Amino acid sequence: MNSASVTRFADRLLRARTALEQSSVDGVLITPGPDLQYLIGYDAVPLERITCLVLTSVSAPVLIVPRLELLAAQASPVGALGIEVSTWDEADDPYGLIADALPAGSGAYGVDDRMWAAKVLGLRGAMPHRPQVVAGAVINPLRMRKDADEVTALLQAGAAIDRVHAGIPQILRAGMTEAQAGSLIGELILAEGHTRVDFVIVAAGANGASPHHEVSDHVIAPGEPIVIDIGGTMPGGYRSDSTRVYCIGEPDAQYRKAYDCLQRAQAATVAAVRPGVTIGELDSLPRQILAEEELAEFFIHRTGHGIGLETHEEPYLMMGSDLVVEPGMAFSVEPGFYLPGRYGARIEDIVVCTNDGVVSANNQPHELMCLN
Ligand code: ZN
Ligand code: ZN
Ligand code: ZN
Repeated sequence: MNSASVTRFADRLLRARTALEQSSVDGVLITPGPDLQYLIGYDAVPLERITCLVLTSVSAPVLIVPRLELLAAQASPVGALGIEVSTWDEADDPYGLIADALPAGSGAYGVDDRMWAAKVLGLRGAMPHRPQVVAGAVINPLRMRKDADEVTALLQAGAAIDRVHAGIPQILRAGMTEAQAGSLIGELILAEGHTRVDFVIVAAGANGASPHHEVSDHVIAPGEPIVIDIGGTMPGGYRSDSTRVYCIGEPDAQYRKAYDCLQRAQAATVAAVRPGVTIGELDSLPRQILAEEELAEFFIHRTGHGIGLETHEEPYLMMGSDLVVEPGMAFSVEPGFYLPGRYGARIEDIVVCTNDGVVSANNQPHELMCLN
């Protein structure tokens, strides 16, 4: 591993330790998942045998692994970071080992937000007198503020999914099913540099009124708006997520008018992103613009979500949130409208707040894409 990566993870561990000092918990326990990947670069597969990073503010980090995972752990940045690795054997009680690695006492400890329930309960059994909380309160504020490398990774992911959207006009044909279109789009997601397809939503006509519709046997017909929301994981673990609306031929005039309003709402919200604006203000802005066409009541979800090593992470663009946007925060801006039984629309870009404004990871045209 190069020294730049060692420095990056060492810096994250230091920031986590500082956050722990300022928190009320004695330590956090991190099992395989995005937090572990973020903190030490170890992309371990979650298995029934527990692997756990023990982070405290008073002692050096320890990674506790089943003996058979030792070589895999050492092959990760853990070795270069000089993190102590402690193994347990099949007959050992790993929860007791983890409990011993925490500072003595009866203080609370955090479990990572994605920890399996069986492990959460195993830990509770080993430390019945200590309160459990979620570690996210300590870790999420770190992950929410992306460093320069992470911003680069998100911009690369955005460019990759933009190339997929650019290829969709060559794929979509009237008479194919959503599922057929979806499988061709999935192949393109991999061909354009992702290592994994995370989701492919092809929602034509009335299916567009369900924001998380995936694909179906519905046959795409001319004149139907088709909401296409796609995303994947890049080699470094960072995610893409972008939505555009297509149509074979022309939608009806009423849809066109509603879509134009949505496009204005999305553009105005992206333009409003800068340091100092609150998340709540960003959530309400598209609602005000959609209200001009009486569409606000049909915008039934939050305006966006953070993105990084997970597709959905903090900050969530929620109504009323006082969280202040800072440089390095990365999130989607994805207003939509959903009219049950009729149609839907959503326009989605990933944006990053910069020192003086915003940069968009997605740069495909936002206009309704009408194909012949
Ligand atoms: Zn979503
Ligand atoms: Zn999204
Ligand atoms: Zn999306």
